[in-house]
Amino acid sequence: MLLIDAHLDLSMNALEWNRDLRAPIQEINDREKHLLDKPDRGNATVSLDELRKGNVGIVVATQIARYVAPDSTLPGWNSPEQAWAQTQGQLAYYKALERTGDLRPIRNRSELDDHLTQWEDDGHTIGYILSLEGADSIISLEYLEIAYEFGLRALGPAHYGPGRYAQGTNAKGGMGARGRDLLHKMTDLQIILDATHLCDDSFWEAMEYHQGPVWASHQNCRALVDHNRQFSDEQLKEIISRGAVIGMPMDAWMMVPGWVRGESTPLNKNVTLNTLIDHLVHVCDLAGNTNHVGLGTDLDGGFGREQCPADIETIADLQKLPELLLKRGFSDNDIVKFCHQNWLDFLEKTWS
Ligand SMILES: [Zn+2]
Repeated sequence: MLLIDAHLDLSMNALEWNRDLRAPIQEINDREKHLLDKPDRGNATVSLDELRKGNVGIVVATQIARYVAPDSTLPGWNSPEQAWAQTQGQLAYYKALERTGDLRPIRNRSELDDHLTQWEDDGHTIGYILSLEGADSIISLEYLEIAYEFGLRALGPAHYGPGRYAQGTNAKGGMGARGRDLLHKMTDLQIILDATHLCDDSFWEAMEYHQGPVWASHQNCRALVDHNRQFSDEQLKEIISRGAVIGMPMDAWMMVPGWVRGESTPLNKNVTLNTLIDHLVHVCDLAGNTNHVGLGTDLDGGFGREQCPADIETIADLQKLPELLLKRGFSDNDIVKFCHQNWLDFLEKTWS
C-alpha cells in the first residue's frame, strides 16, 4: 500500500544530528549509540531505505529554524537572516539528494502525477513536498516569494514558543498585522497553511483571516491528550469544514496522557499503532466521514524509537497499519484514503 507521510524533519536529522539518511538504519544507530551531544537525538527510525521498504512514496519534508532574542533560553538563531541561512542549508541537502536520485521534488499537479507513475515503476526516488515549520526565517514577505520559487508549498507560521509571525505551542497571543500579511501572501501564492503548532489565539485569528488551503500536518486530539499542542474538537471541526486533512503523528507524549520523557516507555504506557488509530477514529467521528485523516508521523522529529509506538521499529513498520485498520472495522476504501488518497485528493484540489 502506498503511504504518504506529511511530516518528516529529514534535513534537520541530517544537518543537526549529522545523520546520513542514505546509510542503512542499523549503521546510523550503531554510530549514534553512545552520542550524548543533542538532548533530542533518539534511536533512528527513518532512513531513505526504510522509507522505500515501507512504500512511503511521498513525504512532506521540512525546513526548520527559529529566531530567538539574544537573551532567550530557547534554542534558535539571533537574527532572521541567520535562520533563513539555516533553512537554505537544509534545502541544499534536499537538492543534493535530488542529484543522487533519492528525492524528487513535487511542486505542482503535473509533477505529482509524474511522480506517482515513476514510483509505481521503480519505487526508488521518493517524492517530497517542501514545507517550512515556523516562519521566523522568512525575513520579509519578499523572502516568501523567493522560498516559493525554491519550491516551498506549505508553511506553519509558528513552532514551539513565540514567533515573529504567530505564537506557537505553549505560547499565547494572536498573529497581528505581520502575521495577517503573511497569510495574505500565502493565499496569493497558494502556499498551504499548516495549522499545526499554532496556539489557540493565533489559530483562531488565522481562521478569521486566511482564505487559502489549510491542513494540519502532524496533529493529535486534545479530547484524548489534554495539552495545548493538541487541537480541541472545535479547532478540528473548523479545519475539517475548510477541507483540511489532518496528519496523525507518532510522538508518544501526544498520543497518551501522562507521558514523562525519559521515564515512560512505549511498552509501559501501552503506546502502539492502535493508539494512533484512536486519534484517527476521533477525527472521523467529528467529521462524520473518513475524508480528513492521513499520516503525518513526525518520526525522528526530536525523539526516536524510545518515544514512538512500540510496534514501530522503523518507519517501514507503518505497513502494519492497513491490517490494524481492517481489524478496527474500516473498509478497504477507507484504508486507501488514510494511507494516501486523502492527501492526494487535497493536493489535486489545491493545485488544480
Ligand atoms: Zn512539529
